[in-house]
Amino acid sequence: MSLVLATDDAGGPEIFASLQGEGPSMGVPVAFVRLSRCNLACTWCDTAYTWRFTGDNRPHRDEAVFDRKANQVTLSPAETAERIAALGQDRLVITGGEPLLQGGRLAEMLEHLPDMAVEIETNGTVKAPPRLDVRVDQYNVSPKLSHSGNPADLALIPERLDDYATDPRAFFKFVIASPGDVEEVLALHRRYRFRPGHVFLMAEGTDSATLRARQEWLAPLCLEHGFRMSDRMHIHLYGDTRGT
Ligand code: SF4
Repeated sequence: MSLVLATDDAGGPEIFASLQGEGPSMGVPVAFVRLSRCNLACTWCDTAYTWRFTGDNRPHRDEAVFDRKANQVTLSPAETAERIAALGQDRLVITGGEPLLQGGRLAEMLEHLPDMAVEIETNGTVKAPPRLDVRVDQYNVSPKLSHSGNPADLALIPERLDDYATDPRAFFKFVIASPGDVEEVLALHRRYRFRPGHVFLMAEGTDSATLRARQEWLAPLCLEHGFRMSDRMHIHLYGDTRGT
């Protein structure tokens, strides 16, 4: 079975080398592979081209609709691994969409990349199969708060969050659009008792001006509550673009 990947601007698979722009590995040179499809639908999603295909009318602030054929490409696990290896990096970030929807095929792909460190970006609703989990060095878990527009029973699954909260490889990254969103993070923190130093708050925004404006009120809230703050470095460097 093939992996279903997102496409870059040229229509090829979105596999590229860059600096990790967010979270605990920000600034680290890595290879990225972006998978298509997601089980959630965030109104501000900046990778809606991975899921909001023609006929999907779930709300999105840009109302953008993408042609499935033009925005998905299939590659075998071996071919995907070959393209990642050709980038010459020693760390891989698997992102999406929700990449764990294709966990079995990802495990197969990683069997072709035995020497790479592996970081997975997930919305925290899907469990990695054991064969994949043993290869993962770091989970960047981004549970979605109410401002994402997803129903809580789909976005915040207690069993999954309990698993990630007790996994020392997992870091939580919450997207914050207004100061009130931090109250929801505090409620989740009381419920799941995230590890100290493992919670990041990150301003929502797809341009530098928005990020900077929101970081002005977010920084003191991080300081007050003992959370780390994540930037979105790739936005400052490259804007809201594919393959970066
Ligand atoms: S979980 Fe991530 S990929 Fe899925 S809709 Fe939300 S922001 Fe987009």
